[in-house]
Amino acid sequence: MQRIHTQTEALNQLSVCFLPNIMKKHNFSAGPSILPQSVFEKASKAVLNFEDSGLSILEISHRSKEFLNVIEKARTLALQTAGLDDSYEALFLHGGASTQFLSVPYNLLKKKAAYIDTGTWSSKALNEAQLFGNVAIIASSKADGYKYIPKDFNIPPDADYLHITTNNTIYGTQFHDIPNTNIPLVADMSSDIFSRDIDYSKFSLIYAGSQKNLGASGSTMVLVKKDILGKVSRKIPSILDYQNQIQSESMFNTPTTFSVYVNLLVLQWIQEQGGIKNIEKRNKAKAELLYNEIDRNPLVEGYAAKQDRSLMNVSFFLKDPSMQEKFDTLWKNANISGLKGHRNLGGYRASIYNAMPIESVQVLVDVLQEFEKNS
Ligand SMILES: *Cc1c(COP(=O)(O)O)cnc(C)c1O
Repeated sequence: MQRIHTQTEALNQLSVCFLPNIMKKHNFSAGPSILPQSVFEKASKAVLNFEDSGLSILEISHRSKEFLNVIEKARTLALQTAGLDDSYEALFLHGGASTQFLSVPYNLLKKKAAYIDTGTWSSKALNEAQLFGNVAIIASSKADGYKYIPKDFNIPPDADYLHITTNNTIYGTQFHDIPNTNIPLVADMSSDIFSRDIDYSKFSLIYAGSQKNLGASGSTMVLVKKDILGKVSRKIPSILDYQNQIQSESMFNTPTTFSVYVNLLVLQWIQEQGGIKNIEKRNKAKAELLYNEIDRNPLVEGYAAKQDRSLMNVSFFLKDPSMQEKFDTLWKNANISGLKGHRNLGGYRASIYNAMPIESVQVLVDVLQEFEKNS
C-alpha cells in the first residue's frame, strides 16, 4: 500500500508540473515524432500506476491478463482502423521497419520480387531482398534525386510480390494512387500509416515502424493477409516467421510492451477523432496551408514534384543558402523544433504527422512570412 501511496503522490506532482509552466515545442521532427498530448499523459500515468493496478506498465508481465488485454485490443483495433477483415492478422514485432526489409523476402520471395525505388528506404528494402532472390527494380526516380513517384511501370506477372514505400519520409513524396496488381502488394507505410482513407485491402502485407504515426519507437506493426504465407520452401528462423508469430499472437518472445501500449493509446485516439476519414481531412488542410505558403513565398522552394507531394513530410529549401542562419534563428525563436532536413538531402523538412495540430503549422507559416518581410 505504501508503494501505491507513493505512486499516487508522484502522479499528483507530475500532473501539477505537467503543462502549465512548460512551453510545449512545435515538434516537426521526422521520427521519433509528435504524438497526441493525451497519449503522452495517459502513457505517463501508466508508467506510474497502470489502470489502478498498483503496478507500472513497465513492470507487468507480458503474459499477465492486463497486458494480454492491451495487445489483443491493439491487434483488433489495428485491423478495424484499416478496415481489414479476419483474413488478415495484425502483429506487433521487434526490430523496426528495417527488420521487415528482410522478413518480407524471407517469407514471401520464392524466385523473384518486384520493387519500386522511390527513396532511401525503398532502396534499403530492395538491397535486403537481393539476399534472397532475383529483384526486379521496375521503376526508380533515383536519377532525379527521388523528386517524384514513377507512374509508368510494368508489373511482372511472375513476380512473387510488388513492394512499394507509400510515403518517402526523406524526400517528401507519396503514392497518391496505389497501383493495381494481380500479385500480392507489399508496402512500407512507416511514415503514412493511418494518415488517409485508402483501400488497405489492396495490400497483402503492410508494415510500419511505430515512431512516426503510430506511437513510441520499439514496436513495428505488420498487417498480413494469411493466405500469402507458407509458400516458400526455405527454412525461416522462428522469430522472423510470420506464421509462427501469428500462432504465438506476437508473443513468441517478450514483446516491446510499453511501445505496444502506446500503440493502443494512439489507435484509440484515432477512433476518438472520428477515424481516419477525419484524420485525412485535417492532414489535407495542414499540408495545403504549408504548401501554399511554400509556393507563394519567394525565398523558399519545395523539393518534391507537386503532384506527388507528401501530406506527411514537407521538404523545402531556401533559395539563398546564405540566409540559413537568419531563418534558423526565426524558427527556433518561435519554439519550433526538428525542422532540419535529413542528412541525405539537406534543406528543411516539416513532418506534419497525424498528431500535429494545424495551429503549429500556422506558426511555421507565420515564421516563413516573417522571414520574407525581414529580408
Ligand atoms: C523511418 C522509416 C524506416 C526505418 O524505420 P526503423 O523502424 O528505424 O527501422 C523505414 N521506412 C520508412 C518509410 C521510414 O520512414
